[in-house]
Amino acid sequence: MKHYVIAIDGPASAGKGTVARLVAERLKFLYVDTGAMYRAITLKALKENIPLDDETTLIKMAKETSIELIFNNNKYKVMTDGKDVSEEIRTEQVSQKTHFIASILKIREILWEMQRAYRKNYNLVMEGRDIGSIVFPDAEIKIYLDADIEERAKRRYKQLKENGHQVDIETVKKSLIERDEKDKNRTISPLKKLSESIYIDTTKMTIAQEVQQIVNIFYEMR
Ligand code: C5P
Repeated sequence: MKHYVIAIDGPASAGKGTVARLVAERLKFLYVDTGAMYRAITLKALKENIPLDDETTLIKMAKETSIELIFNNNKYKVMTDGKDVSEEIRTEQVSQKTHFIASILKIREILWEMQRAYRKNYNLVMEGRDIGSIVFPDAEIKIYLDADIEERAKRRYKQLKENGHQVDIETVKKSLIERDEKDKNRTISPLKKLSESIYIDTTKMTIAQEVQQIVNIFYEMR
């Protein structure tokens, strides 16, 4: 049986995570956060003091790493080699360093394989940067979720503050712009709007509206 894929791509802090998770809940699909995988490898490299330009060692480490994305008591957990890293992968340091890992083709290939494997058993809502373009070019639905930079900076700032991080909004905004530039301009699977993607600008939308729009698109296209 072929499983459905709803691919949600877009820039950092456009609200992909929250919306993708809620759409998955509504449709009883599996939610997969691919950014968490790139972050998990980055965190491990930082912890093991592997220089981020040492591709050979990084690739070897990625091959030997187990990453699990699991739901437990209604909480989404990211586990690396059996350890819960859900919180640690969200720091600004990891956000800023992940581009090193994300631009290594062999590491992407390892993660693509894990990502594609989920479809064998589940209908998916998968979010990232290259889901509609590379991971599942045949996804039934491709969404490009966007919001203007001021709004995305506000959302990220709020999230960091809530998690107890000391940050100022201008630094957060600068970091988001830099990260988007890197994600859009890298040679391997850059973030881009595809002609077949449905573009949703969430700047002025509530989360409930965004979720409803995607759920409606799914029911109309099915
Ligand atoms: O989605 P999130 O912001 O957590 O992703 C962190 C980083 O991981 C992105 O800035 C990007 O460099 C990388 N990433 C990627 N491809 C994906 C998902 C994330 O390159 N499919």
